[in-house]
Amino acid sequence: MTSTPDAPAVSALSGLFESTFGSAPDGVWQAPGRVNLIGEHTDYNEGFVLPFAIDKTAKVAVRIRHDSRVRLLSTFGEQGLVEADVDMLVPEAAKGWTKYPLGVAWALQQRGILVPGFDLLMDSDVPLGAGLSSSHAIECAVISALNELTGAGLGAEDMVLATQRAENDFVGAPTGIMDQSASLRGSKGHAVFLDCRDQSVQLVPFDAQEAGLVLLVIDTKVSHSHADGGYASRRVSCELGAQVLGVPALRDVGIGDLEEASGLLDSTTFRRVRHIVTENDRVLQTVERLTTDGPAHIGRLLDASHASMRDDFEISCPELDLAVETSRAHGAIGARMTGGGFGGSAIALTPVGHEQDVRDAVVRAFAAAGFTTPDIFTVTPAAGATRLA
Ligand code: ADP
Ligand code: MG
Repeated sequence: MTSTPDAPAVSALSGLFESTFGSAPDGVWQAPGRVNLIGEHTDYNEGFVLPFAIDKTAKVAVRIRHDSRVRLLSTFGEQGLVEADVDMLVPEAAKGWTKYPLGVAWALQQRGILVPGFDLLMDSDVPLGAGLSSSHAIECAVISALNELTGAGLGAEDMVLATQRAENDFVGAPTGIMDQSASLRGSKGHAVFLDCRDQSVQLVPFDAQEAGLVLLVIDTKVSHSHADGGYASRRVSCELGAQVLGVPALRDVGIGDLEEASGLLDSTTFRRVRHIVTENDRVLQTVERLTTDGPAHIGRLLDASHASMRDDFEISCPELDLAVETSRAHGAIGARMTGGGFGGSAIALTPVGHEQDVRDAVVRAFAAAGFTTPDIFTVTPAAGATRLA
């Protein structure tokens, strides 16, 4: 058993696994949620993103079985014990949280990997539906476990693609590769600079604490859904833009091409394109700033990213705008909505001395506007998926 700070959680999970399933798990794995620092909707345009793994994780205790049965239980209990047969997995048929572990097993099978039955107990403190990718935290913890226990030996890049397949084709959510890349490849004190065209990753120093800053997450409690029309229609606009401009993906359009593009595209498609093009540029600038000057120098880029999502990509909402504006007015050096949009969370990079001011002001502003009380907490860049026991 491990002697890390995770030891109590690991032994509690192992103990519950043993009392539920009758013997100890083969191991315990964890994978984090993620916050995207900057680079929104750029992933499916083969562009750049800069997420980081957070100090909130999904943990799974797993034991391989000698038959094809799968038994799944979570500590939050909603569905009770769910049973399935690993040889009879049907895309889009599974319900609730179990579609994620079953989707991972299915995606491994699609790669020709023999997946035996297994017992699995899941626990997670990644807030769900807040834009922190609680679903990928589950998938990445499960794939880390099954990759090891089946001896599949996939590398990080292949695990990223397998979890994408699970989300896209089994769960039915049209997501890219950012969330899994952060969860599987993150590193403490770093952000993950990911080129979504070739999947190359560069770890960029991002230690807000050292710079006297905290990164606040403001969960607006407005629920988002990746499968809804807003996300799909933005993808369609981006595809149309690339097609009209004659490029494989909007990644290939530079800031200098925008003037010409404005004459070729209808005004809505042009604004969608402009968001992607300027957002890619902001990611590159953020990487440069973090590498040379540190986190205190990226505030302006976070602000500009939010304005672009609000005005050009139109994926913000009144709650997110209020969270961002109020944070900035009370001392945050930069703030933006994060995640796919239409709800979820905002982030506010805030000097330690202003943290309480920002928290209080946002809660007051939400009350005055008649919005649901937001959940506000700090996150720090943490390690990616790992085996705990
Ligand atoms: P996100 O990944 O942005 O948090 P999703 O809608 O993709 O939002 O995934 C949320 C889903 O993941 C929930 O509907 C639920 O099925 C599952 N889930 C993840 N974490 C938990 C949890 N701690 N408790 C219950 N369900 C969870
Ligand atoms: Mg998700």
